[in-house]
This record gives sequence, C-alpha cells and structure tokens, in this order.
Amino acid sequence: MREYTAAAGDRINAREREKYASASPEEIIRRRQASAEYHRRNRARIIVLQRERYARLTPEQREAHRSARARRKVRLRIAMTAEDRQASVGYRIATMNDPCFYCGSIDETHIDHFIPLARGGTEHWWNLVRACPPCNMAKHARCGTYFALMKGCGEPRRTPSLPEADPVNIGG
Ligand SMILES: [Zn+2]
Repeated sequence: MREYTAAAGDRINAREREKYASASPEEIIRRRQASAEYHRRNRARIIVLQRERYARLTPEQREAHRSARARRKVRLRIAMTAEDRQASVGYRIATMNDPCFYCGSIDETHIDHFIPLARGGTEHWWNLVRACPPCNMAKHARCGTYFALMKGCGEPRRTPSLPEADPVNIGG
C-alpha cells in the first residue's frame, strides 16, 4: 500500500467532496455504507490519522472542536437513560418500513433526526422519523418543522372550526 501523507489526504478529501456534491441519492447511500464498512475495518488507523489532523489545527480550531465535541458528548450521555436507548431501538425496528415522514414516499427510507444532532437533537425515539433519500439530503441540518413547512406539509387540510365565543368569557 502506498504511504498515506496528510497533504495527500486533504487532496483526496477535496476531490471526494466535489464528487459527493454531484452524486445521485443511490450513489450517496452506497458511499455511506462503504464508508461505515471502511471505518469498522480501519478503526485503529483512523484514530491515529484523526490525532495527526488534530495536531495540525490552530488553537482556535482546537477550541471549537473541543467544545463541539464536549457539547455532543454531554447531550448524548445526560439526555438518555438505558430505557430511552432501548425504546429508540424498538422504535427504529417498528418504523423500519414506514413511508417518508416529509413526503410520504414509500421508497427505501432511512432514520432522520427530526431535530438534527448538529442542532441539539438526541437519539430519543421521539426525535426519530423515516425520511426518503431525496428528503434526507434536502433537509441537511434543518429542523424537521422548518423542512416540513418548506415542503408544504404545513398547508391546512381544512379550516378548523372555531367556537363562537372565547370559552373563557362565556357567562362573564
Ligand atoms: Zn421524502
């Protein structure tokens, strides 16, 4: 195997990012699976590379990295009990064949964090919905409510019937 240098790694990353931007949903899914497999097989080497990359960061970048990591860690640890985790696993299995939460597509759907992890969301079952690949990609790190409104899911289906008078004031 050729020797892996940091500079070569950066060049490869830039090239991969460009390719990723123009890839089809199927291609992106295939790549995600391949990437997960790669990480499983090369865990030890990846940790070394990550340390090297971290060593090249500026003090400001390091601080940003540390605090983002700490926030995520605290959130995931404090926010969830063992029961929560179990409920999430059960929920993932139970909803595996559900249609896309945002567009109703019955194509192969994936788990989506309604409030993204990057925006403070958790792995709780109530933060998980199914999303088709196009919705998943279009949503990015947007909040689910915002994305649903963007897609027009927020259009009222009928005019709600309102009481004639404000109940609080009846007889007042
Ligand atoms: Zn969808």
